[in-house]
Parts: sequence; structure tokens; C-alpha cells
Amino acid sequence: MAKNLIQFQKGLSFPDFLAQYGTEAQCGDALFGWRWPAGFVCPECGHAEGFTALRTREPMQCRHCRHQTSVSAGTIVAYTKLP
Ligand SMILES: [Zn+2]
Repeated sequence: MAKNLIQFQKGLSFPDFLAQYGTEAQCGDALFGWRWPAGFVCPECGHAEGFTALRTREPMQCRHCRHQTSVSAGTIVAYTKLP
């Protein structure tokens, strides 16, 4: 029987996954890097002047137009209740 190449493809082991994405902060940092690889760009006004963190992590407020957003806003995980 032929080996299922999808099932046995090289990937991330569970310990490696936990090492990279084991905490909410690591996941937030990963989302931020995927969404804004060159640094924060306001989705409302397009300026890249940075943001002010209103609390520990979310929401973030654009320093130019004061639009508030988050790393998860507009993504598939935007309304999740899970950490
Ligand atoms: Zn803005």
C-alpha cells in the first residue's frame, strides 16, 4: 500500500508547536508578524507612525488617526472567546 504523503509530511512536532505557540503572547506576536511584517500600518489611514497599546496587548490605537484595531481584527480568529 502506498504511503499517504499528506499524512506523513514533515511538519511541526507537538513539543515544537508548544515551544513556538504555547502561550497567548507568542500567538499574538506571531499574528502581529504575519499581519504587519514591516511594522504596524493603520488599516484605517495607512500611516505607519505606530500605535499606542491601550491595555496590555489589545486594542491598539493608531498614533495618527486614533483608529483602534487589534492583531486579530478582521481575521478568522477575530471573535473567538478562546485565548
Ligand atoms: Zn490611523
